Amino acid sequence: MNINWNTQLYCLIGNPIEKSLSPEIHNYIFNINNMNCIYMCFNVEDNDLHQVLDTFKILGIKGFNVTIPYKIHIMKYLDEIDEEARLLGAVNTVKYLDGKFIGYNTDGAGFVKSLIDSGIHIKDKKILVLGAGGGSHAISMKLAQSGAKQIILLNRTIEKSKKLAYNISNKFGDISVEYDDLKSFSQYTDVDIVVNCTSIGMYPDTDEVPIDISIFSNKTVVCDIIYKPIKTKFLKNAEKKNMKIIGGMDMLINQAILSQKIWFSVDKNIAINIDEIKGFLHYSVE
Ligand code: NAP
Repeated sequence: MNINWNTQLYCLIGNPIEKSLSPEIHNYIFNINNMNCIYMCFNVEDNDLHQVLDTFKILGIKGFNVTIPYKIHIMKYLDEIDEEARLLGAVNTVKYLDGKFIGYNTDGAGFVKSLIDSGIHIKDKKILVLGAGGGSHAISMKLAQSGAKQIILLNRTIEKSKKLAYNISNKFGDISVEYDDLKSFSQYTDVDIVVNCTSIGMYPDTDEVPIDISIFSNKTVVCDIIYKPIKTKFLKNAEKKNMKIIGGMDMLINQAILSQKIWFSVDKNIAINIDEIKGFLHYSVE
């Protein structure tokens, strides 16, 4: 990596940002495309968020990502919010353009792209989403926008799945949305796709599963947005049943690629080999 006077800084702000895989993904893309850019992480305190943004403007930072816990909080400091980020109610990507910070969200689109890349189409599908946190919110809204026929939201705290169901129905009146307690999962066997958006099964609790996979036929596609471990027990159980599986690493890489497309404009031909990225991230995660 050749850093010189003209190197552009891109970064992630959040708290905590320790062990984020974003620098590895973005710096890999910069390197293989000979882009004079570097990506770093900054741990930012809540009280400093506004000042950090002002400093970014002064320094001419052209783009950055936002992670937990600032994806919602940052919106009030931005000059414009793109339509999709407004729909998803959160921002994970910011671009500096013509003196303005513009907020975007690539989480939902990153997930949907991982389905499409695996040959799975969303239109008219019946989808079971487990969890009602930040990840579930972005994904469920995007699935609704992408033409899903029915979305069933199951969560431990039923109030949260109820609120998310209400938000989806409010924005997409023509879609059928149900919500229930996660414990009632066995009533929802007839679905095309199931997505785990809870943190159940995430390292270090890798022996846990959100629900019993044996209730579904082997035609159901099983997704998990957890990427540590790369293959959760939930996915391993599905694989044993010969079900198609999609892991969280695909979403993570796709949302990063989509951020770069926003920063550098979609027309720029950026070479990316997702399998190569997965290959080296494997060593960082496992
Ligand atoms: P979050 O906002 O904190 O939501 C966590 C969800 O998990 C909530 O629905 C919560 O239920 C549920 N949950 C947690 N522990 C549970 C338990 N013991 N029993 C039942 N439900 C439980 O987190 P998030 O940001 O959505 O992230 C969730 C997971 O997705 C994490 O593993 C994260 O790393 C991963 N993720 C991956 C990507 C990616 O790019 N691949 C992106 C975002 C997130 P309650 O509402 O009842 O608390």
